[in-house]
This record gives sequence, C-alpha cells and structure tokens, in this order.
Amino acid sequence: MADLPSRVSRCQLGNYLGQISIGGFTQHNLIYLPIRRETWLPPTGYARLYLMRRTTHDGLVFYQFETLSDHSAINHGLFTRLGGISEAPFDTLNVGSTVGDDPARVRANRERMASAMAFSEPDTRTTWQVHGIDVLVARRDEVPVWPPPKADAIITAEHGVPLVMRFADCVPLLFFDPINRIAGLAHAGWRGTLSGIGPVTVQAMSETYGCRPQDIIVGIGPSIGPCCYEVGTEVVAEVQEAFGDAKHLVLPSTNGGGDRLDLWAANAQALRSAGVEQIEMACICTACNTHEFYSHRAEKGRTGRFGAVLKLGR
Ligand SMILES: [Zn+2]
Repeated sequence: MADLPSRVSRCQLGNYLGQISIGGFTQHNLIYLPIRRETWLPPTGYARLYLMRRTTHDGLVFYQFETLSDHSAINHGLFTRLGGISEAPFDTLNVGSTVGDDPARVRANRERMASAMAFSEPDTRTTWQVHGIDVLVARRDEVPVWPPPKADAIITAEHGVPLVMRFADCVPLLFFDPINRIAGLAHAGWRGTLSGIGPVTVQAMSETYGCRPQDIIVGIGPSIGPCCYEVGTEVVAEVQEAFGDAKHLVLPSTNGGGDRLDLWAANAQALRSAGVEQIEMACICTACNTHEFYSHRAEKGRTGRFGAVLKLGR
C-alpha cells in the first residue's frame, strides 16, 4: 500500500484514485477515465491501478513510481515544493536558479534534496533546459561544467551519477532499462512533446547502450494535466501536424477558455509509437496541486521549480 498522506484533500484523493494505467484525471472533484481512448488501453486488456508512493524525509516530500520502485538498481524521486527554505513565491524547496530566488537558498535546497536521496550534490549531472531535443550522455569521468550543456534529456550507464532536472508544469519523463541498467531523464513541455523528446531519448538509449524499447520502463511525472492546460489555436494546429488526428489529445473547452492539451496522453502515444510498452502515468496535475508542486501556469510565472532525480545503484 502506498504511503498515503494522513490528511488527504478531495483533490489529492482524486489524483490518487485517478492513477490507473489507462489514464484518468480529475476536475471539480470528479474522476474522468477516458476509456474511449483505445490507444490508452493496456495490451493485456485490463486496467491496473497504480499508486505513486509518497515519502517524507526530514520534511521533504517526494513521489515515486510503483513500477520503478520495484527495481533495486534504480533510485528516483519526484520532489515537491515541501521541505525547503525559500520564501514566497518560491516556497519552499525551489531548486531552480533562474527564477529570481536567492542563490544561497537554492543551493541549500539542492543540498537537502541530495541528502534525502543520499547522493553528493556536486556529483549531479544536469542540463540547461531549452525545450529542444538534444540528449546529453553523462559519464562519471567528465567533470560537470557550469552552466551545464543545453539539452532536454540526459542518459547514463554510470551507477551513482544522479541525473537531475527542474519542473513547474512541463512533463518529467523518467526512463529505466533494467536489462542493460541504463537510466534517462527528460523534460517535455509542449514543444518538446511535439518534437518527440520521449522517442528521441529512447533512440539515444538504443544507439548509445543497445537498449530495446520494449525493455524500457517510462514514468510520466507530475505536470500540468488535461484538466488545466488550456492552449491557443496555434498550438492545437501544431499538435495536429505532429500527431495527425489529434482529437483524443485536445479536449474541448468547458469554461469558455481555450481547448485543453493532454500532454500525458501525447507523450504516452509518442513513446508507444517508439516501441515502449511499459508506461506509468502519475496523473498528478501540478496546477491543481500548487500546495505540493510549483505550477508556472497556475502561479502566473512567479514560482519555483521542483526537482526530479534518477540515480542508478550498483
Ligand atoms: Zn489540473
């Protein structure tokens, strides 16, 4: 049983209940299961309920995918905004250094995150996230540079080399190949999603380390959901261009605003097209849950970034 928080709001409870492998999301405290989306149905024909594990460590709270937690060769955490020292509007565990927060507090928060997952912060490998599709290969013997290279995915075969990226609505994609023991982490905003950062990362894992897509487990992390992600007509047009028939990825407006883009489904569809068969969705919307996560959209740009960490063990 997952470690459920002692006090669960209806919204949080909805998110827990919505974590079904065929996808689900909440709106106005109702749970929608878009089972009409045949592409979301697992090949075995049944829906398995996944619950993310929620762990508290020295006041820091992080989530873990059930499917990745089953493997002792990988450690991972999708951190929240809880347990740090930054002040509003970056309260409190902001690990983003480009949002206007005090650099000393950001450094301290990064140290706290490293401590919670038992790694040394200077060993971290990260990128300068630019909404592109470049992939960085992290090697232990290459000393990290600052600023880090511009890229939106990192892959590694090195144990004990923590991969870290920062998020506030964009989609964290966590990759693990348990056969070859390869880890990957990617950042997928709408541009990266449409450009195929997920499939590009799978391809880089295949070309660099000989991974087979069907062996790779992918976790689609907390990010802005189809309940909240209104987009303009120009984005809808780009979705149609990238995915062809995009009816199932764009949901009609319910409140007079724009249509809503389903980044979770779009990334899942792109990954399945690349041959990935094992996908777990967090189905946690950052904009619905600003008490736990940063949301660029819900907080009108004045907010921090939460960290996603992935680290191979021995
Ligand atoms: Zn939402």
